Amino acid sequence: MTITELERSLPSLETGKAMHRLAGELYPICRSITGKGFRDSLSILTSQIPLKVHEVPTGTRVFDWTVPKEWNIREAWVRNERGENVIDFAKSNLHILQYSVPVHVRLPLEELKAHLFSIPEHPDWIPYRTSYYKENWGFCLTHRVLESLGEGTYEVLIDSSLAAGSLAYGEYLLPGKSEDEVLISCHSCHPSLCNDNLSGMTLASTLARLLGQVDRHYTYRFLFIPGAIGSITWLARHQKKATRIKHGLVVACVGDGGSMTYKKSRRGDAEIDRAALHVLKHSGKQYRLEEFSPYGYDERQYCSPGFNLAVGSLSRTPHGQFPEYHTSADNLEFVRAEYLEDSLATYLAVVRVLEENRIYVNQNPFCEPQLGRRGLYRSMGGRTDQAVHELAMLWVLNLSDGANALLDIAERSGLSFDQIAVAADALSGVGLLRQKSPKSHPHTPTRRRRNTR
Ligand code: ZN
Repeated sequence: MTITELERSLPSLETGKAMHRLAGELYPICRSITGKGFRDSLSILTSQIPLKVHEVPTGTRVFDWTVPKEWNIREAWVRNERGENVIDFAKSNLHILQYSVPVHVRLPLEELKAHLFSIPEHPDWIPYRTSYYKENWGFCLTHRVLESLGEGTYEVLIDSSLAAGSLAYGEYLLPGKSEDEVLISCHSCHPSLCNDNLSGMTLASTLARLLGQVDRHYTYRFLFIPGAIGSITWLARHQKKATRIKHGLVVACVGDGGSMTYKKSRRGDAEIDRAALHVLKHSGKQYRLEEFSPYGYDERQYCSPGFNLAVGSLSRTPHGQFPEYHTSADNLEFVRAEYLEDSLATYLAVVRVLEENRIYVNQNPFCEPQLGRRGLYRSMGGRTDQAVHELAMLWVLNLSDGANALLDIAERSGLSFDQIAVAADALSGVGLLRQKSPKSHPHTPTRRRRNTR
């Protein structure tokens, strides 16, 4: 099956609904950069794909970093003098400052307040806070509850452990005809947060399942990793292999109602940058384009100068640019099936451009061939797009000199990649075009290396 056939076979909204259900299954779990919640989440994803779980022991050096201690939590609450739990981890896993060390103390409100975090401008939302690399403890709560806490002594219990263990990550490799790889990477370390985290996990695992059903030129590598430390760890363990990654996308924030946003790779003009931009331009919908910056998700690591991989990030509203970001309002209502499905369709369209972006050679380069004689000209009467189809064939014939790939031709002609690919198919069918070589994908970056910034 080709990707186009796959796209046509997907019933409307069914995939989006399934993605939303999967997000719902993952939602209650308290994930963090290490620990049981992360592993439990990977095991839920195995309902989609048989991903492999790798464990890297605490203390392992990974470039300039060290794999941290493993954090697990069972129970956490703050109790008032009447014995009522005023904050309870059992009600929302966002209540705990992630990586809180175990404590059991009694203390007055003033001292307790130094360990409490709220958002005054959104008094009904619980914030999400972490303290991975500095030992601390704390609770996150709505500002309304914080304001309601009376003077007195509070009992605090955090039954957690921060000890030597390991960092887990999930990996799924889908082999293609070529060893050249497309990387799809998503951070999977946030607790009950839907757009930032779960939308990416469900999109990546669904994309993996679907791509498993199609003929592939590229090998696809899917990574489900804790943010930052996960990509650093993977890159440290695969420094040589990483050069196989020719294109990559970091997936996050793909379930909200905002328009699609593409953040370019550090290279800025890599094939993935051009493919993503082309798809968005021809989507007929609003989109945003962001230049690379060394801030954001794991593209920071993939695009660090030692690697400089062609990895961009395709999202809807980017991190930090929606008020619900890193709060309890980033929930299952904020993320919708139709947006998840639209994002998935955009990913499939970008992958299709990468897969089909081949270089052809015109077999009749001396003046235009006679298309009519070959049944290609005005033959398909009634086709309303016949004029565009003919124009696309002329562009493909003219530019297929062995140097231009189909995406180059689409960009230069202003036509969509789909129109150009259909034209190339028709011309190949009558022998007017031949693929330059079986390995005629143009990703090899050498030609463009001088442009790297
Ligand atoms: Zn986040």
